[in-house]
Amino acid sequence: MVFYCQRHSYEKTYTTKVVACNPAKLDVVENSKKKKVDCYETTFEDTVMFPEGGGQPDDRGTVDGIPVLRIIRKGGDAVHYLEKPLEVGSLVTQEIDWIRRHDHMQQHTAQHLITAIADSIYGYATTSWYLAESVSYIELDTEEIPDEEISAVEDAVNQRIRDATAVYVKEYDASDTELKEIRTRGLPDDVVGPVRVVTIQDVDANMCCGTHVCNLADIQAIKLLHTEKGKANKTLLFFVAGARVLRYLGECVDRERHMNTLLHSCPSDHLRLVEKKQKDLKSTLRSLKEALKDLAVAEGQKFLAQDPRPKVYFHHRRDGDMNYLGAIINEINDECVLKVLTAGEDNGPGSLLVHGPASLVAQVGPG
Ligand SMILES: [Zn+2]
Repeated sequence: MVFYCQRHSYEKTYTTKVVACNPAKLDVVENSKKKKVDCYETTFEDTVMFPEGGGQPDDRGTVDGIPVLRIIRKGGDAVHYLEKPLEVGSLVTQEIDWIRRHDHMQQHTAQHLITAIADSIYGYATTSWYLAESVSYIELDTEEIPDEEISAVEDAVNQRIRDATAVYVKEYDASDTELKEIRTRGLPDDVVGPVRVVTIQDVDANMCCGTHVCNLADIQAIKLLHTEKGKANKTLLFFVAGARVLRYLGECVDRERHMNTLLHSCPSDHLRLVEKKQKDLKSTLRSLKEALKDLAVAEGQKFLAQDPRPKVYFHHRRDGDMNYLGAIINEINDECVLKVLTAGEDNGPGSLLVHGPASLVAQVGPG
């Protein structure tokens, strides 16, 4: 079945009839924990709400004000999981969370476009993709993608957006011979009824059950971010599209402002200054290590100079560490003296080293 949402991707509300509504349990994840919630499995004559499919997550929204928790495909039906029941046979109004849906349409159409351009310029086939909450990726069938190729793909996809290229959907009967010419990627196994072909004018034609923008201009922009190694010689290419581009840029600008304050500099100096600070820190830590080693020797010598030599030696140093404590014990080098050494902040975690005659260490040491 082709749903109302697929034929009218820009509709936000729809009035339809309740066909079935039964109590059900739904698996949800809350604070990283799985749990089951009581809800109502509901089907309608048709729906403006997109059920999960083709890599696109399901919609959220309400039906007569009742929140919809999930929508999945079961054969030809879109099953909606509602918090409260609805009367079978009644007319109800569905309303979608448009910000979420429009975002999904932008990311999804962007994926079609990047896939088509990466294929046409470099012959990289897309083997899968993932629409995530903030940054999505497409998995390309190549071991690596050089930076200049990423730039070329980014330029080409954004040129198509600036060209305000049309995107349209045509439905075909499953036996239509024209379909053989078109890619089958992204079509769920349980799809029933007519096959939908999504075409980006002069760029790509592809079977898909998702919802898409009607013109690439509605994506606004696509930013390709970085790559990661995928499984079996594949490469993941991360991207943001649509409203996410400005959000991402906004987050970068916020971080940049914080860095301006922290580094007392302008953004063009950030990299140089951080590299310099890292180098300085490395050298300072090296000096500190040397100084602590010298100090440990001096502390040990100070103890050894006492006459008569005490049987117990206590020592604490806030900025010491296990190497420092160990160096004092080495310097004292007297098995008869019980040494109780500590290092660390007064109320924080720290190090404890107890050394000396076994019977005394057993009494002092932990456990
Ligand atoms: Zn699609």
